[in-house]
Amino acid sequence: MVDIRIRFDSVSKNYGPVRVVDNLKLDIAKGEFVSLLGPSGSGKTTLLMMLAGFEDATEGRIFVDGRAVNDVPSYKRDMGVVFQNYALFPHMSVGENVAFPLQMRGVSRAEIEKRVTGALDMVQLGHLSERRPTQLSGGQQQRVALARALVFEPRVVLMDEPLGALDKQLREQMQLDIRALHNRLGLTIVFVTHDQSEALTMSDRIAVFNKGKIEQIGSPREIYDEPKTRFVAEFIGETNLLEGVVDRTSAGEALVRLTSGHAIAVADTQDLSPGQNVFISIRPERIELQDAMLSAGSANALASRVADSVYQGDHIRLQLEDGAGATYVARLDRKSAEWPKGTEVNALFRPVDCKVVLP
Ligand code: ADP
Ligand code: MG
Repeated sequence: MVDIRIRFDSVSKNYGPVRVVDNLKLDIAKGEFVSLLGPSGSGKTTLLMMLAGFEDATEGRIFVDGRAVNDVPSYKRDMGVVFQNYALFPHMSVGENVAFPLQMRGVSRAEIEKRVTGALDMVQLGHLSERRPTQLSGGQQQRVALARALVFEPRVVLMDEPLGALDKQLREQMQLDIRALHNRLGLTIVFVTHDQSEALTMSDRIAVFNKGKIEQIGSPREIYDEPKTRFVAEFIGETNLLEGVVDRTSAGEALVRLTSGHAIAVADTQDLSPGQNVFISIRPERIELQDAMLSAGSANALASRVADSVYQGDHIRLQLEDGAGATYVARLDRKSAEWPKGTEVNALFRPVDCKVVLP
């Protein structure tokens, strides 16, 4: 039995006639790090605002530790929040901003000093604690907001794209810092991002949002390796999508006839039936190339020609063309054999790596 910290029970949000969060159900366990990932406008921020108490749910109930919080004002929800529009207090110094939630909770002076120093060091701003927020860059202000949200070690921390304004190096450092903090303090974190690599790096589970609904939820590995729909396969990482029709099915395997005419065996447990339109999703790094002469006629081998080969330092990226004019991408280890442009190859699509996704 996992302890549920947060429960969205059939929660919807309408703005006028438009439903932007649609009958959403989601349980988040104590100590879990869950990312809400999806394109702009898919309802991520709205869901977080309802959890924080900044917006009312139109329908449904939100529970924290088993208690409905729909009518609990935001300041009584004991949540640390980092929202883009949740500004720092301009009349207070950086240090005073971070101290504020501790003062509100009656923490002793000595303890406040210690915790504020620790929180500012974590975001690498210890040397700027005397400054006013207006004297900081946007990225620095965001880091102060992060320190302010975490300093009182709340039971739930909500973050809406908190690292979006930071440059790449600092962003990646902060991703690891937040993760380490989550592990150390056992925080429950709900983290909104539209950056899939950020979600993969940080989360215990990722909820992929599409049009106000969760299209799929699972561990980073499940979301990346077992996408259920075309939307999820394309949104997370790079993939090749090959259109086809289910030809026949047997226990644990199905044969898909691609538009190009090739038949590809897939190991899939989804319920498929002959005649069904599907896509096969295969990640570029899962494709293996063999010399056309050596593997002619092999099962699940797609006779192809190398249209382009680009050396990218840590890997080689190949553009391939099958006989029917479809193109796809393979990503090979930099130590693998060279496949110059124009080479005829067989691309092996292992059944276990071919994921059937629904259109
Ligand atoms: P995301 O965070 O995934 O980008 P949002 O939750 O911000 O998406 O927005 C979801 C949808 O709700 C969008 O179409 C947006 O325009 C709309 N929306 C958000 N806030 C409001 C509001 N206060 N009034 C009307 N529509 C809104
Ligand atoms: Mg948003």
